[in-house]
Amino acid sequence: MKYYKQGQLLCYIGTWTPFVILVAIFLFFYGIYMQTYLLPRIRSEYIEKPVLEINTYLIQLVHINDYVFSNSTVVITVLLHTILVLFLITLIRVVTILPGKVPKEWLNKVEGEINKMIENEENMINFHKKGSQTSTSFSSEIDDEQRLQLNSKARLELIDKSGHRFCKNCQAFKPKRCHHCRQCKTCWLKMDHHCQWLNNCIGYNNYKLFINLLGYSWLLISFIMVTYSRCYYDTLNSYSSDSKLFLVSFTFLYCCFLWILLTAFTFFHLWAIKSNITTLEYCENKPRQPVQKSALENIVEVFGVNPLIWFLPIQPNTKPILD
Ligand SMILES: [Zn+2]
Ligand SMILES: [Zn+2]
Repeated sequence: MKYYKQGQLLCYIGTWTPFVILVAIFLFFYGIYMQTYLLPRIRSEYIEKPVLEINTYLIQLVHINDYVFSNSTVVITVLLHTILVLFLITLIRVVTILPGKVPKEWLNKVEGEINKMIENEENMINFHKKGSQTSTSFSSEIDDEQRLQLNSKARLELIDKSGHRFCKNCQAFKPKRCHHCRQCKTCWLKMDHHCQWLNNCIGYNNYKLFINLLGYSWLLISFIMVTYSRCYYDTLNSYSSDSKLFLVSFTFLYCCFLWILLTAFTFFHLWAIKSNITTLEYCENKPRQPVQKSALENIVEVFGVNPLIWFLPIQPNTKPILD
Protein backbone atom coordinates (compact mmCIF):
# COMPACT_ATOMS: atom_id res chain seq x y z
CA MET A 1 0.00 0.00 0.00
CA LYS A 2 1.26 3.45 -0.99
CA TYR A 3 0.44 5.14 2.27
CA TYR A 4 3.01 3.21 4.29
CA LYS A 5 6.36 4.88 4.64
CA GLN A 6 9.36 2.80 3.71
CA GLY A 7 11.14 1.05 6.55
CA GLN A 8 8.01 0.62 8.63
CA LEU A 9 8.19 -3.14 8.35
CA LEU A 10 6.85 -3.86 11.83
CA CYS A 11 3.91 -1.53 11.26
CA TYR A 12 3.27 -3.22 7.92
CA ILE A 13 3.30 -6.71 9.49
CA GLY A 14 1.08 -5.49 12.34
CA THR A 15 -1.55 -4.05 10.05
CA TRP A 16 -1.73 -7.21 7.92
CA THR A 17 -1.85 -9.61 10.91
CA PRO A 18 -5.67 -9.43 11.43
CA PHE A 19 -6.21 -10.20 7.73
CA VAL A 20 -3.83 -13.20 7.89
CA ILE A 21 -5.66 -14.44 11.03
CA LEU A 22 -9.00 -14.04 9.21
CA VAL A 23 -7.77 -16.08 6.23
CA ALA A 24 -6.25 -18.74 8.54
CA ILE A 25 -9.55 -19.12 10.47
CA PHE A 26 -11.42 -19.35 7.18
CA LEU A 27 -9.07 -22.05 5.80
CA PHE A 28 -9.20 -23.98 9.10
CA PHE A 29 -13.02 -24.18 9.09
CA TYR A 30 -13.14 -24.94 5.39
CA GLY A 31 -10.70 -27.83 5.99
CA ILE A 32 -12.74 -29.17 8.94
CA TYR A 33 -15.98 -28.96 6.96
CA MET A 34 -14.48 -30.78 3.98
CA GLN A 35 -12.71 -33.46 6.07
CA THR A 36 -15.56 -34.23 8.44
CA TYR A 37 -18.57 -33.72 6.22
CA LEU A 38 -18.33 -33.19 2.46
CA LEU A 39 -15.42 -35.52 1.55
CA PRO A 40 -16.77 -38.50 3.60
CA ARG A 41 -20.14 -37.89 1.94
CA ILE A 42 -18.56 -37.90 -1.54
CA ARG A 43 -16.50 -41.03 -0.69
CA SER A 44 -19.60 -42.88 0.51
CA GLU A 45 -21.21 -42.34 -2.87
CA TYR A 46 -18.16 -43.30 -4.85
CA ILE A 47 -17.84 -46.78 -6.32
CA GLU A 48 -14.63 -48.22 -7.66
CA LYS A 49 -15.05 -50.75 -10.45
CA PRO A 50 -12.08 -52.97 -11.16
CA VAL A 51 -11.79 -53.88 -14.88
CA LEU A 52 -9.22 -55.70 -16.95
CA GLU A 53 -7.24 -53.82 -19.50
CA ILE A 54 -4.99 -55.60 -22.00
CA ASN A 55 -1.96 -53.94 -23.42
CA THR A 56 1.00 -55.28 -25.35
CA TYR A 57 3.21 -56.11 -22.38
CA LEU A 58 1.01 -57.29 -19.59
CA ILE A 59 -2.44 -57.75 -18.39
CA GLN A 60 -3.25 -55.02 -15.95
CA LEU A 61 -5.97 -54.56 -13.45
CA VAL A 62 -7.01 -50.97 -13.53
CA HIS A 63 -9.68 -49.12 -11.67
CA ILE A 64 -12.35 -47.22 -13.46
CA ASN A 65 -13.99 -44.69 -11.17
CA ASP A 66 -17.71 -44.55 -11.21
CA TYR A 67 -19.45 -41.68 -9.48
CA VAL A 68 -23.04 -42.12 -8.52
CA PHE A 69 -23.60 -39.02 -6.52
CA SER A 70 -26.95 -38.13 -5.14
CA ASN A 71 -28.48 -34.89 -6.33
CA SER A 72 -28.13 -33.34 -2.89
CA THR A 73 -24.35 -33.98 -2.81
CA VAL A 74 -23.93 -32.36 -6.24
CA VAL A 75 -26.08 -29.37 -5.21
CA ILE A 76 -24.17 -28.92 -1.91
CA THR A 77 -20.74 -29.14 -3.59
CA VAL A 78 -21.62 -26.81 -6.48
CA LEU A 79 -23.44 -24.26 -4.32
CA LEU A 80 -20.75 -24.20 -1.63
CA HIS A 81 -17.95 -23.62 -4.13
CA THR A 82 -19.92 -21.04 -6.15
CA ILE A 83 -20.51 -18.94 -3.02
CA LEU A 84 -16.89 -19.55 -2.02
CA VAL A 85 -15.50 -18.29 -5.34
CA LEU A 86 -17.74 -15.18 -5.23
CA PHE A 87 -16.66 -14.61 -1.62
CA LEU A 88 -12.95 -14.86 -2.48
CA ILE A 89 -13.23 -12.57 -5.53
CA THR A 90 -15.06 -9.98 -3.41
CA LEU A 91 -12.56 -10.34 -0.56
CA ILE A 92 -9.62 -9.67 -2.90
CA ARG A 93 -11.42 -6.69 -4.46
CA VAL A 94 -12.36 -5.12 -1.11
CA VAL A 95 -8.81 -5.48 0.18
CA THR A 96 -7.17 -4.06 -2.95
CA ILE A 97 -9.57 -1.27 -4.00
CA LEU A 98 -9.04 2.02 -2.17
CA PRO A 99 -12.10 4.03 -1.08
CA GLY A 100 -11.28 7.00 -3.30
CA LYS A 101 -9.48 10.29 -2.77
CA VAL A 102 -10.88 13.76 -3.35
CA PRO A 103 -10.57 14.36 -7.14
CA LYS A 104 -7.93 16.93 -8.20
CA GLU A 105 -10.50 18.73 -10.40
CA TRP A 106 -12.68 19.30 -7.34
CA LEU A 107 -9.74 20.67 -5.33
CA ASN A 108 -8.73 22.95 -8.24
CA LYS A 109 -12.32 24.18 -8.53
CA VAL A 110 -12.44 25.05 -4.81
CA GLU A 111 -9.04 26.80 -4.98
CA GLY A 112 -10.32 28.71 -8.02
CA GLU A 113 -13.36 29.86 -6.05
CA ILE A 114 -11.13 31.04 -3.20
CA ASN A 115 -8.82 32.93 -5.57
CA LYS A 116 -11.85 34.59 -7.11
CA MET A 117 -13.14 35.63 -3.67
CA ILE A 118 -9.70 37.03 -2.75
CA GLU A 119 -9.53 38.89 -6.06
CA ASN A 120 -12.96 40.45 -5.43
CA GLU A 121 -11.91 41.52 -1.94
CA GLU A 122 -8.67 43.02 -3.31
CA ASN A 123 -10.62 44.96 -5.93
CA MET A 124 -12.94 46.27 -3.21
CA ILE A 125 -9.99 47.39 -1.06
CA ASN A 126 -8.31 49.04 -4.04
CA PHE A 127 -11.57 50.73 -4.99
CA HIS A 128 -11.89 52.24 -1.50
CA LYS A 129 -8.19 53.23 -1.47
CA LYS A 130 -8.60 54.89 -4.84
CA GLY A 131 -11.59 56.84 -3.57
CA SER A 132 -9.73 58.13 -0.51
CA GLN A 133 -6.50 59.01 -2.35
CA THR A 134 -5.66 61.31 -5.24
CA SER A 135 -5.23 59.53 -8.57
CA THR A 136 -1.47 60.34 -8.66
CA SER A 137 -0.63 58.96 -5.20
CA PHE A 138 -2.79 55.82 -5.49
CA SER A 139 -1.00 52.54 -4.94
CA SER A 140 -2.80 49.24 -5.60
CA GLU A 141 -0.36 47.03 -3.64
CA ILE A 142 -1.67 44.84 -0.86
CA ASP A 143 0.94 43.62 1.60
CA ASP A 144 1.53 39.95 2.51
CA GLU A 145 -0.16 40.22 5.87
CA GLN A 146 -3.31 41.66 4.29
CA ARG A 147 -3.28 38.92 1.64
CA LEU A 148 -2.99 36.25 4.34
CA GLN A 149 -5.97 37.75 6.16
CA LEU A 150 -7.97 37.85 2.93
CA ASN A 151 -7.04 34.25 2.26
CA SER A 152 -8.23 32.94 5.65
CA LYS A 153 -11.37 35.11 5.45
CA ALA A 154 -12.18 33.69 2.00
CA ARG A 155 -11.66 30.12 3.25
CA LEU A 156 -13.97 30.63 6.22
CA GLU A 157 -16.59 32.22 4.00
CA LEU A 158 -16.42 29.31 1.59
CA ILE A 159 -16.82 26.78 4.42
CA ASP A 160 -19.87 28.73 5.67
CA LYS A 161 -21.38 29.05 2.22
CA SER A 162 -20.76 25.60 0.75
CA GLY A 163 -20.50 23.30 3.77
CA HIS A 164 -17.10 22.01 2.57
CA ARG A 165 -14.73 21.01 5.33
CA PHE A 166 -11.03 21.65 5.80
CA CYS A 167 -8.66 18.83 6.78
CA LYS A 168 -5.92 20.10 9.10
CA ASN A 169 -3.88 16.92 8.54
CA CYS A 170 -3.92 17.09 4.73
CA GLN A 171 -4.12 20.92 4.69
CA ALA A 172 -6.79 20.72 2.01
CA PHE A 173 -10.51 21.18 1.51
CA LYS A 174 -12.72 18.14 1.41
CA PRO A 175 -16.41 17.49 0.64
CA LYS A 176 -18.86 17.31 3.52
CA ARG A 177 -18.98 13.50 3.67
CA CYS A 178 -15.25 13.01 3.27
CA HIS A 179 -13.34 11.83 6.35
CA HIS A 180 -9.68 11.71 7.34
CA CYS A 181 -8.46 8.23 8.35
CA ARG A 182 -5.66 8.29 10.92
CA GLN A 183 -4.44 4.80 9.97
CA CYS A 184 -4.33 5.53 6.23
CA LYS A 185 -3.30 9.20 6.80
CA THR A 186 -5.60 10.17 3.93
CA CYS A 187 -8.98 11.78 3.39
CA TRP A 188 -11.39 9.30 1.80
CA LEU A 189 -14.64 10.05 -0.03
CA LYS A 190 -17.74 9.02 1.95
CA MET A 191 -15.56 7.06 4.34
CA ASP A 192 -17.56 4.47 6.27
CA HIS A 193 -14.94 3.00 8.60
CA HIS A 194 -11.40 1.62 8.67
CA CYS A 195 -11.61 -2.17 8.69
CA GLN A 196 -8.67 -3.72 10.60
CA TRP A 197 -9.61 -7.22 9.40
CA LEU A 198 -9.34 -6.19 5.74
CA ASN A 199 -6.53 -3.68 6.34
CA ASN A 200 -8.33 -1.13 4.20
CA CYS A 201 -10.66 1.75 4.57
CA ILE A 202 -14.24 1.27 3.45
CA GLY A 203 -15.65 4.22 1.55
CA TYR A 204 -17.14 5.45 -1.68
CA ASN A 205 -15.23 3.16 -4.09
CA ASN A 206 -15.52 -0.13 -2.19
CA TYR A 207 -18.57 0.17 0.07
CA LYS A 208 -20.84 -1.78 -2.29
CA LEU A 209 -18.22 -4.55 -2.51
CA PHE A 210 -17.97 -4.57 1.28
CA ILE A 211 -21.74 -5.11 1.50
CA ASN A 212 -21.43 -7.90 -1.09
CA LEU A 213 -18.70 -9.45 1.07
CA LEU A 214 -20.98 -9.32 4.11
CA GLY A 215 -23.77 -10.89 2.06
CA TYR A 216 -21.57 -13.74 0.75
CA SER A 217 -20.14 -14.34 4.24
CA TRP A 218 -23.64 -14.53 5.68
CA LEU A 219 -24.75 -16.87 2.89
CA LEU A 220 -21.68 -19.08 3.32
CA ILE A 221 -22.06 -19.36 7.11
CA SER A 222 -25.82 -20.01 6.81
CA PHE A 223 -25.19 -22.68 4.17
CA ILE A 224 -22.50 -24.37 6.29
CA MET A 225 -24.71 -24.22 9.40
CA VAL A 226 -27.68 -25.83 7.67
CA THR A 227 -25.70 -28.59 5.91
CA TYR A 228 -23.38 -29.21 8.87
CA SER A 229 -26.20 -29.51 11.43
CA ARG A 230 -26.82 -33.10 10.28
CA CYS A 231 -23.14 -33.99 10.70
CA TYR A 232 -23.14 -32.34 14.15
CA TYR A 233 -26.24 -34.31 15.17
CA ASP A 234 -24.81 -37.63 13.89
CA THR A 235 -21.47 -37.01 15.62
CA LEU A 236 -23.19 -36.29 18.93
CA ASN A 237 -25.27 -39.45 18.64
CA SER A 238 -22.56 -41.84 17.50
CA TYR A 239 -19.41 -43.29 18.99
CA SER A 240 -17.07 -40.76 17.45
CA SER A 241 -13.56 -40.10 18.71
CA ASP A 242 -13.09 -37.23 21.17
CA SER A 243 -11.06 -35.21 18.68
CA LYS A 244 -13.75 -35.52 15.98
CA LEU A 245 -16.47 -34.67 18.47
CA PHE A 246 -14.50 -31.59 19.56
CA LEU A 247 -13.73 -30.41 16.01
CA VAL A 248 -17.28 -30.89 14.71
CA SER A 249 -18.88 -29.28 17.79
CA PHE A 250 -16.40 -26.40 17.80
CA THR A 251 -16.90 -25.73 14.07
CA PHE A 252 -20.69 -25.90 14.26
CA LEU A 253 -21.02 -23.74 17.40
CA TYR A 254 -18.45 -21.22 16.15
CA CYS A 255 -20.45 -20.94 12.90
CA CYS A 256 -23.63 -20.29 14.93
CA PHE A 257 -21.82 -17.54 16.87
CA LEU A 258 -20.46 -15.99 13.65
CA TRP A 259 -23.90 -16.17 12.07
CA ILE A 260 -25.43 -14.11 14.91
CA LEU A 261 -22.64 -11.49 14.65
CA LEU A 262 -22.85 -11.33 10.85
CA THR A 263 -26.64 -11.08 10.85
CA ALA A 264 -26.55 -8.11 13.24
CA PHE A 265 -23.72 -6.43 11.30
CA THR A 266 -25.41 -6.98 7.92
CA PHE A 267 -28.74 -5.64 9.17
CA PHE A 268 -27.01 -2.55 10.57
CA HIS A 269 -25.40 -1.83 7.19
CA LEU A 270 -28.65 -2.44 5.30
CA TRP A 271 -30.35 0.04 7.63
CA ALA A 272 -27.44 2.51 7.11
CA ILE A 273 -27.80 2.23 3.31
CA LYS A 274 -31.56 2.78 3.53
CA SER A 275 -31.02 5.82 5.77
CA ASN A 276 -28.01 7.12 3.76
CA ILE A 277 -25.74 7.30 6.78
CA THR A 278 -22.17 6.05 7.18
CA THR A 279 -20.88 4.16 10.22
CA LEU A 280 -18.72 7.17 11.18
CA GLU A 281 -21.64 9.58 10.88
CA TYR A 282 -23.74 7.20 13.00
CA CYS A 283 -21.03 6.94 15.69
CA GLU A 284 -20.47 10.71 15.74
CA ASN A 285 -24.24 11.26 15.62
CA LYS A 286 -23.67 13.77 12.80
CA PRO A 287 -25.69 12.77 9.71
CA ARG A 288 -24.32 14.66 6.70
CA GLN A 289 -26.73 13.62 3.97
CA PRO A 290 -26.98 16.45 1.45
CA VAL A 291 -30.73 15.97 0.92
CA GLN A 292 -33.31 13.55 2.26
CA LYS A 293 -34.06 10.88 -0.33
CA SER A 294 -36.33 7.85 -0.48
CA ALA A 295 -35.02 4.43 0.62
CA LEU A 296 -34.89 3.25 -3.01
CA GLU A 297 -32.86 6.31 -4.09
CA ASN A 298 -30.43 5.66 -1.24
CA ILE A 299 -30.10 1.99 -2.24
CA VAL A 300 -29.49 2.98 -5.88
CA GLU A 301 -26.83 5.49 -4.75
CA VAL A 302 -24.79 2.61 -3.25
CA PHE A 303 -25.68 -0.34 -5.51
CA GLY A 304 -26.16 1.46 -8.82
CA VAL A 305 -29.12 1.63 -11.19
CA ASN A 306 -28.64 -1.85 -12.65
CA PRO A 307 -30.16 -4.49 -10.30
CA LEU A 308 -28.29 -7.22 -12.22
CA ILE A 309 -25.00 -6.20 -10.57
CA TRP A 310 -26.42 -5.65 -7.08
CA PHE A 311 -25.52 -9.18 -5.99
CA LEU A 312 -22.28 -9.52 -7.97
CA PRO A 313 -18.81 -8.31 -6.91
CA ILE A 314 -18.94 -5.40 -9.36
CA GLN A 315 -18.64 -1.75 -8.38
CA PRO A 316 -21.32 0.41 -10.08
CA ASN A 317 -20.23 3.30 -12.26
CA THR A 318 -21.69 6.16 -10.22
CA LYS A 319 -20.45 9.71 -9.73
CA PRO A 320 -18.61 10.44 -6.47
CA ILE A 321 -20.55 12.32 -3.81
CA LEU A 322 -18.85 15.71 -3.66
CA ASP A 323 -21.49 17.89 -2.06
ZN1 LIG B 1 -7.13 14.52 5.56
ZN1 LIG C 1 -8.13 3.89 6.83
